[in-house]
Amino acid sequence: MSGGSGHNRILAGLGIGAVAGVAANTLVGDSPQARATLDTLIDTVAHPIGQIFLRLLFVVVLPLVFASIAVGVSSLGDLKKLGSLGARTLFFFVLTSVLSAVLGITALHLLQPGAGFDPQTLAEMQAKYAGDVQSLASKASANAPTDLLGRVNQILDMFLPRNLLKAAVEMQMIPVIVFALVFGAALTLIDTRRRESMNTVLEALSDAMVTIVGFAMKLAPLAVGCLIFGVTARFGFGLLQKLGAYVAIILACYVIQLVVLYPVLLTVMARRNPWQFLKSAMPVMVTALSTSSSSATLPTSIRVAQESLGIRPQIAGFVLPLGATMNMNGTALFEGAVVLFVAQVFGVELALQTQAMVVGMCVLTAIGAAGVPGGSLPLLMGVMAQAGVPPDGIAIVLGVDRVLDMGRTVINVMGDQVCAAYIDAADRPRA
Ligand code: ASP
Repeated sequence: MSGGSGHNRILAGLGIGAVAGVAANTLVGDSPQARATLDTLIDTVAHPIGQIFLRLLFVVVLPLVFASIAVGVSSLGDLKKLGSLGARTLFFFVLTSVLSAVLGITALHLLQPGAGFDPQTLAEMQAKYAGDVQSLASKASANAPTDLLGRVNQILDMFLPRNLLKAAVEMQMIPVIVFALVFGAALTLIDTRRRESMNTVLEALSDAMVTIVGFAMKLAPLAVGCLIFGVTARFGFGLLQKLGAYVAIILACYVIQLVVLYPVLLTVMARRNPWQFLKSAMPVMVTALSTSSSSATLPTSIRVAQESLGIRPQIAGFVLPLGATMNMNGTALFEGAVVLFVAQVFGVELALQTQAMVVGMCVLTAIGAAGVPGGSLPLLMGVMAQAGVPPDGIAIVLGVDRVLDMGRTVINVMGDQVCAAYIDAADRPRA
């Protein structure tokens, strides 16, 4: 990996980009002309540089996921081992997601940031974000079949579509993961010599992809700065003040998750020094923060887990792709918090059993959410509706969502790293 100075350069890029963006935002103020110039600068300079970095990461995701899962499963050599590894991984995903959702809901319940929310701001937000709410709602309902057979087929398609390549082209990760698992399992059953040749090819493919991530990371300090500049330069900081309590509470929960819950899990379940671990995982956190996408962060996660955190490649290659798609602790926390916040704004009382149901729905929808910016929002509207909270109320929080999305993506990807460290420790014969 790029080493200590590499982390520092990326962090410096992040800091400079953020400060420059905030400064540009403030300087431009309300002047439409200055804003247009700033928009042009972002679109023609910051955007392409950030995109080259992002695309280098995205382009390796599918081959890397396929190769690392298939070789991981095949080198386990035994399908029983796969079963116990899978069960442990899923147990850890569900455990941390439930804890996260409970943390978000409890904090909002205790601190009540939505009570007595200014009705005028509420009306303004609803008018301003009506279009975004509508497009989210149509995304949520576009693929929702109403009949039973349709729903069964939809679940089948999610895991085993008729056309794998079409799913892959659409960047649907779950079918690729399922096929890689089946492929790896089949390899364990064929002739040893052939299996080993295939493993060599898959390992070379995976190494080459990880090397491409290394190229991307060389560009990271500048690209991360550009990405973050684009976000902060366009951000509505005025709104941040009005929703200050809501944003501060959720960010505080993320911090608790990162510096209390994960270190406890790392110490107790993975037998690791948590501070060393978090320090070495810095490039993963910075990539998540600047891309707001678990999928875009996955290649960096795999590279860092193998090269800086000492997690065995077959474990990292198995747990991290699954985690990037299914384990979104920060998202579960955020969803629970939004449901409670909007309920408080609208004066909707949520009974204890409704809150328990919300925890369950947050865990399920965090599994289903796509690892892209705002990927959880359409599903979140479904959770709100189920809980009897007006889904359109999401308008109140959309304007500040990017900041929270950056934070929750960091929590999401770090949850996967903690899980990989746990599985690596649990599965490693003790010295
Ligand atoms: N942006 C998040 C991720 O990629 C998903 C979300 O909660 O919107 O992990």
